[in-house]
Amino acid sequence: MEHIYDMLIVGGGPGGYTAALYAARAGRDALVLEKLSAGGQMALTSDIDNYPGFEQGVDGFTLGEKMQQGAERFGAKTELAEVFSLNLDGEVKSAETSEGTFYGRTIVLATGASPRPLGVPFEEEMLGRGIHYCASCDGMMYRDKTVVVVGGGNTAVEDALMLSHIAKKVILVHRRDSLRATKVYHDPLMQAENIEVRWNSAVAELIRDEKLTGIKLKDTVTGEISELECDGVFVSIGRSPATELVKDKVALDKAGYIEADETTRTSVPGVYAVGDVRTKAVRQVVTAVADGAVAVHYAEEYLASL
Ligand code: NAP
Repeated sequence: MEHIYDMLIVGGGPGGYTAALYAARAGRDALVLEKLSAGGQMALTSDIDNYPGFEQGVDGFTLGEKMQQGAERFGAKTELAEVFSLNLDGEVKSAETSEGTFYGRTIVLATGASPRPLGVPFEEEMLGRGIHYCASCDGMMYRDKTVVVVGGGNTAVEDALMLSHIAKKVILVHRRDSLRATKVYHDPLMQAENIEVRWNSAVAELIRDEKLTGIKLKDTVTGEISELECDGVFVSIGRSPATELVKDKVALDKAGYIEADETTRTSVPGVYAVGDVRTKAVRQVVTAVADGAVAVHYAEEYLASL
């Protein structure tokens, strides 16, 4: 007979390892299936200063390892395996992986979401040296400087407003002549004295030496190219949730995230979604770890009902 875990956790980021910690401490056997290494997106962040308890900040890779070790101290296990498919039906669910099939009575989906890139040359190389995808994480680096925010949705406008309290000047660059962001944001944006909006503009090129010094903008109507000096660019053009494994199996919202409220319960009994992959307003390490704890609470309820 194959072993049946109480909980299979797909993804070893902060949400996944917090679910593992809480499950293990509740006496449940939990297995984290992780493709690469602990931490998920967080592991790519050099300085995390908005996760409480680290007065000097912490690098994401280290924090990921600490979360893994913390969960494993209580008996949670990790299998380094790529998950190819999931069977979420019935009381015993399963994951087909590069290391074989694993079975579980509950499944926690903790696969995360990645920021959508601009797709311009040298974007990856300039990550952290002028190119950023998280204003609340990296905004503090730009006190009294000039920053560009790219995008016209709620996130971009929220980011621009947040950065306007830190930076000397914020330039919002949007590819069309009207915002996608909801009306409630329009007035604060237009009233902010240090925010300028460049309509019908797309980032065509990064201007750089060691660090970013500016960008080339292309007018999306006339095709004209202009240069804009700036110290940093925050890319806020949406995220792509990693839902490939479950897109036909659990309900997704309009933006493609797994539909799950603060209970983390999905449309399938015994299946929970935690962290960036679920519908939520604030995608941060601190909210992902909260989800991990909540998922175990509801999984316990479900397991007791079997
Ligand atoms: P979003 O609503 O999909 O907006 C993405 C923005 O980026 C759009 O303005 C889009 O332009 C632009 N864009 C997309 N691809 C681009 C590209 N390759 N180059 C240049 N611009 C590009 O994404 P989001 O703002 O991250 O929001 C995601 C979801 O979370 C939304 O449902 C949003 O309402 C929600 N959210 C809610 C709140 C809140 O309620 N407080 C806060 C944040 C986010 P176009 O407009 O031309 O398509």
